[in-house]
Amino acid sequence: MKTRGYAAQSANTPLAPFEFERRAPSDREVLIQIEFCGICHTDIHSARNEWGMTVFPCVPGHEIIGRVLKTGKDAKRFREGQRVGVGCFVNSCRTCGSCTGGHENYCEKGFTMTYGSMDTAGRTPTFGGYSHQIVVDEHFVLNIPDGLDPAASAPLLCAGITTYSPLRQVGLNKGSRVAVMGLGGLGHMGVKLAASFGAEVTVLSHSPRKEADAKRLGAHEFVLTHTEGALQKLANRYDVILDTISAKHDINGPLNCLRPQGTLILVGAAPETLDLSAFPLIFGNRTIMGSLVGGIPDTQEMLDHCGRHGITSDIEMILPDQINLAYERTLKGDVKYRFVIDCAKF
Ligand code: NAP
Ligand code: ZN
Ligand code: ZN
Repeated sequence: MKTRGYAAQSANTPLAPFEFERRAPSDREVLIQIEFCGICHTDIHSARNEWGMTVFPCVPGHEIIGRVLKTGKDAKRFREGQRVGVGCFVNSCRTCGSCTGGHENYCEKGFTMTYGSMDTAGRTPTFGGYSHQIVVDEHFVLNIPDGLDPAASAPLLCAGITTYSPLRQVGLNKGSRVAVMGLGGLGHMGVKLAASFGAEVTVLSHSPRKEADAKRLGAHEFVLTHTEGALQKLANRYDVILDTISAKHDINGPLNCLRPQGTLILVGAAPETLDLSAFPLIFGNRTIMGSLVGGIPDTQEMLDHCGRHGITSDIEMILPDQINLAYERTLKGDVKYRFVIDCAKF
């Protein structure tokens, strides 16, 4: 089937209209009419090949909301017309320990990313949600709770699960002290979700103008990290720090803000290598962990949690021809707090 979308053809060309083929859904697949797709900073890193692993042409987009148009004969989980979501990956081996444990995101044989992998037949790159239709195995399709605004739910499929999953994993609960570094797409979801677990949340930001928003989103405190002495005052304070920063930055100062045995969760994926001093880890027995989005069962749990608590993303809707401008504005921190593309307009 001919599908319309937007693609980057190389690292230094803007995204432009692109037509490509989607296969017809096989027995266990569903064809989804995409309604909305969020713009994640990963899309920008990928379209510009900042991590050095992009497959071109690159149709980004892994925060997908749409409606089921058609189901294969053995795909029984969803009915036609149902509102569904697709996140960062669309296939995995289904047999390794990670997959059978519901952590398809850590598939030991390598999962298939929604965009930028080779598809299971190995012949064409996978193309993501900056398009009007997608075909996905039903195992990797999520149910979107009724009552959530569909456009504002799109970012839950990446920004939501990427923050929810590690915060759950470290056992965040009522009264935990959490700091979220970087108030962007991931960061603002991290604040909302941590607050929904009853945590006491601080935002660590380099943007003075974001203070009022941080409080509105659920943070109890806002600290400007580049103010002289600001981090020293927070020494030994937090149980958990969630680092969502997209560019090279200091992590040694923030590590000292963890209480002994505290954990820094690194989800921001700066292209540059971060400098790590041994001392804040050794003195304080602290841990750094990484985390990659979340498995399918965790993603459904997160969506159901958001459905119960009425949590969605703060979004700004755009048309496809505004994607390149949205990238520039995201890089300047000029978005509250996620751009979402109206995919009916592709
Ligand atoms: P975003 O909306 O652009 O937000 C990033 C935030 O980082 C900015 O709002 C800003 O917050 C802060 N920041 C940016 N440049 C900075 C700098 N030079 N120094 C200090 N702070 C800076 O990006 P996003 O979509 O949330 O994604 C964030 C990162 O997570 C990206 O690297 C993305 O690729 C990665 N990611 C990882 C996963 C995963 O599974 N691990 C999933 C999705 C995304 P303040 O203005 O508040 O300082
Ligand atoms: Zn993402
Ligand atoms: Zn696997």
